[in-house]
Amino acid sequence: MSAINLTTIIKDNQDFIKYVSGESGQPVQQCYQCGKCTAGCPVALDMDYSPNSIVRMVQLGLKDEALRSQSIWICAYCSTCTSRCPRNIDIAKIMDCLRGMAKRQGIKLEGRAKDIALFYDSFLNTVKDNGRLYELGMMLNFNLKSKNYLRDADTGLAMFTRGKIKFVPMRNENYKEMALLFKRVKELEDKSK
Ligand code: SF4
Ligand code: SF4
Repeated sequence: MSAINLTTIIKDNQDFIKYVSGESGQPVQQCYQCGKCTAGCPVALDMDYSPNSIVRMVQLGLKDEALRSQSIWICAYCSTCTSRCPRNIDIAKIMDCLRGMAKRQGIKLEGRAKDIALFYDSFLNTVKDNGRLYELGMMLNFNLKSKNYLRDADTGLAMFTRGKIKFVPMRNENYKEMALLFKRVKELEDKSK
């Protein structure tokens, strides 16, 4: 494995470090790697890099490693890490910022990260179209796109027969306003690419 010259990487990736700090509003450089965030994270064991490692990657400008990690997608945004941080760093916001960057930059996602991103899209698309979640549409869309056509079919069928999910979407009366909100967010995202 070739050696990494951190001094060069930090210098070359100042834009990335500044962008994440600014966009997330977090004093990333204040992290002193105590690891309290990781110790409290309920899903750290499923991550490829611990939450404190992700913060360190941002400090060092390791952009590719941070944006390609599974961790930023596995993070459940529960904010346990944030409440434990002695430096008042909102790690959940950093994770969210990195997810957004990865998505906008078209990073090719693999494994669980790919499924989680697909789930987000399926969820948000039904909210965009109906002004609220349409469970059946979300499930069908997610299963089709992830090519796991019968995933959770037994649970879905049981919920359907008990009337817990509807066949026809129930639109929120303000669904058109919701669609406009999504349009506006998309315009802002395109500008920040
Ligand atoms: S708890 Fe805060 S200071 Fe400690 S490693 Fe995590 S982000 Fe850094
Ligand atoms: S917000 Fe994310 S990183 Fe922080 S504790 Fe929750 S799951 Fe872990």
